[in-house]
This record gives sequence, structure tokens and C-alpha cells, in this order.
Amino acid sequence: MQLVSACLCGINCRYSGDSSVNKKIIELLKNGGALPVCPEQLGGLQTPRKPCEIVGGAGKEVLLGKAKVIDKDGNDRTFEFVRGAQEVLNIAKIVGSKKAILKAKSPSCGCGKIYDGTFSGNKIAGNGITAQLLLENGIEVITEEDLK
Ligand code: SF4
Repeated sequence: MQLVSACLCGINCRYSGDSSVNKKIIELLKNGGALPVCPEQLGGLQTPRKPCEIVGGAGKEVLLGKAKVIDKDGNDRTFEFVRGAQEVLNIAKIVGSKKAILKAKSPSCGCGKIYDGTFSGNKIAGNGITAQLLLENGIEVITEEDLK
């Protein structure tokens, strides 16, 4: 069973209250090969919510306590983001998942590149917090952009 970002499944869990539906992920879901998760909701954040970005690094640095997640009003949301990542890892362990397909560029789900913390659309190399935690626990992570 692969974990997938819930917003890719058409679930309206994005900060803006909508989804990022992806046809290939929907097919996986219909075939029973995908389990939707949204780390930001699992971490206790409401929907809609203010957009958040990682300031001072990427997911790796957040998990090391060296960077923070800040929303657009300047509120620190690091606790919720880390808790959501831990919940997704917990789900992965429960179902024995070894792979996740997550939403590109998100501060939770992005893998390989994420937004740079300036809310300007610029990207930096690095992983979101959930992607990083899954990778550190031996779970393969790709994004919907990697799907052929
Ligand atoms: S946390 Fe992940 S699953 Fe949830 S809305 Fe953001 S990108 Fe989608």
C-alpha cells in the first residue's frame, strides 16, 4: 500500500481549502493501491489555514530543531507540522507501507525541492518535513511530478 498526499486524491485539505487532484493518483486510489494522508490536518491544523513555509532550512533542519515552520502571519507552526509528519510515519508503519507519492514543493510533502520560506514562489533544494521523516525511516518518496 502506497501512501499518497490526500490533496492529490481530490480531498479539499490544502491551506486554501481546495485540492490538487491528479488523475494518475485517482486511478491508484480506485484500484485500492493508495492510502490518502494529509500531514498538516493530522498535525491539528485547520482547513482553510494560512500558507506556511520552512524558514532557515528544509525538513531535515526542522527535524533537527534548526529551522521553523512559519505561517504568512508569522505564527510558528513547527509543532503541528512535526506532529503531522510523525502521524504519517505512524500510519506507514501500521500498514507496512514502503512507498509514498507526495505533493511536490509543499513544506510537508515536497521531495527534492520546496518553497524557500519567503512566500515568493522561489524554491530551494530539500524535502518537506513529512517526506524527510519518511525517507529517514527507509520509505521511498516520490512526487506526482515523478509519475510517468
Ligand atoms: S500537507 Fe500534503 S497532503 Fe496536506 S494539503 Fe499539503 S501537500 Fe496536500
